[in-house]
Amino acid sequence: MRISMVSEHASPLAALGGVDAGGQNVHVAELSLALARRGHDVTVYTRRDDAALPDRVRTHPRLEVVHVTAGPARSVPKDMLLPYMSELAEGIVEDWGEDAPDIVHGHFWMSGIAALDAARQSRSAGRPVQVVQTFHALGTVKRRHQGGDDTSPSERLMLEAMVGRSADRIVATCSDEVFELKAMGVPGSRVSIAPCGVDLELFSPQGPVEERGRAHRIVSVGRLVPRKGMDLVIRAMADLSARGRDDVELVIVGGSGNSASLEEDPEAQRLTALADALGVGDRVVLRGQVSRAEMPAVLRSADAVVCAPWYEPFGIVPLEAMACGVPVIAAAVGGLVDTVVHGKTGLHVPPQDPAAIAAAVDDVVSDPGWAGELGANGYRRVKARYSWSRIAADTEKAYQTALGAAAPAQPATARRSAARRLESTGGRAL
Ligand code: UDP
Repeated sequence: MRISMVSEHASPLAALGGVDAGGQNVHVAELSLALARRGHDVTVYTRRDDAALPDRVRTHPRLEVVHVTAGPARSVPKDMLLPYMSELAEGIVEDWGEDAPDIVHGHFWMSGIAALDAARQSRSAGRPVQVVQTFHALGTVKRRHQGGDDTSPSERLMLEAMVGRSADRIVATCSDEVFELKAMGVPGSRVSIAPCGVDLELFSPQGPVEERGRAHRIVSVGRLVPRKGMDLVIRAMADLSARGRDDVELVIVGGSGNSASLEEDPEAQRLTALADALGVGDRVVLRGQVSRAEMPAVLRSADAVVCAPWYEPFGIVPLEAMACGVPVIAAAVGGLVDTVVHGKTGLHVPPQDPAAIAAAVDDVVSDPGWAGELGANGYRRVKARYSWSRIAADTEKAYQTALGAAAPAQPATARRSAARRLESTGGRAL
C-alpha cells in the first residue's frame, strides 16, 4: 500500500518531552517505520517549524518525512495552527502530484482536516484516496477536564466531530475513546481499535540502570503540563513522608529543555515550589527532558513508574515502563485502564488522589518480591500485545477495511463466478 501520514505539529523527528512533543510523535514515528518494514511505502507530512529543515528526510528505504511549509517556519503552539491547515493540504496534494496514495492517515484533529481536504482535492481530480483518522486526544475530553484553561480553538469540538463523521475509518487507541467517539456521533461500526505500541528493542528489562539517590525511587515521565498530574505525585511524596517513608525519591522527567532551562519553565517552577512547601524538596528531582536513548536506564532505576494524569487519551509511558519490567501505578483513566492490569502488572488508583498513590507506592516498595512479579507480568503483557509490528498489522487491517468499503460492490453474478473460480483453485485466490 502507499500510505501518507499527516502529523501537523508532531514530527516523528522531533525531540520529546516539550509542551507539544510527546506520545503522538512516538506513535507516528514507530507506526510509520513498522508499516514500512511490512513492505508499505510511507510518507509522513509534518509542518516545517524551522527554516533550516531539509524538504525531505529518508529514514528507511520505504519511509520518508516531508516538511511542508504551512504558516511560519518556526515553532508555533499547536493550538494556533488551525489557520495553516489548508496550506498544509495544498503542500500534500502538490507532493502527491499524479500519484495519490491509497490511504491518507490523519493524526490529531487538525491533521484530519488537512487529510480530508487533500483527499477531496485528489478525488475531484479522479484519484481516489481513503481517509483514516486517529485523534490521539479528543477536544470533548480536554474541555471536560480543563474547562476555561483549555486553549484549543473554539471551533475544535465542531470540526473534530466533522472529521469523525467524514473520515472513511477511525482508528481509536483505546476502548474509552470508542465511547467518546459514539457520543460525538461516530458509529462504532466505523471504528477500529489499534493501541499505541512500544519499541521492545530499546525498552527491555536488561540494560544499564541509573543510580538512585535513595533506597527507593519512583519515576514520573511526561510533558510538563498540569494535566499530567506531576503535582499529585509530589503531594503523594508528602503523604509517604507522613507515613514515615523518607527513603523514597521522586524523579520527574520531562520539560521544555534540559534541567538548566527548567529554571525558566513556569510549570517546573510551580512544581519545585510545591515540593519545597510540602517539605519534600530534598527528594524530588526535576530532570528535564531525557533522550529516547537514556530513557530505559531511568525507567529501570524505578521501583515503580507513577502515571497520575487527570485524563489520558492513551499514555505510552506505562508501556515503556512495563517493557523495562517495572510495575506501573496509574490513575484509572483513558488508555491506562486498558494497558495496566490492576494487581497483575501494577496498580490502578483513583484519579487525582495523592493518598491513594502514596499507599500504592508504599505497598510496592515494601514488597520487592511482589514488585518483581508485577514487573515480569508487565513485560510479558507488552511483549504479547504491544509490539509495533502487531500494532502495524492491526492498523493495516483498518486500512484494508477502509479500502474494501470504498471498492465498488460487485454484482451478484460476478461474486458467484468469482466464488466458483476460487473453488476450482482449491481455495487459493487467483
Ligand atoms: N518522553 C521522552 N523524553 C522526555 C519526556 C517524554 O522521550 O523527556 C517520551 C516518553 O518516553 C513517551 C512520550 O514522550 O514515549 C510521551 O508519551 P505519552 O503517550 O506518555 O504522553 P503524551 O506526551 O502523548 O501526552
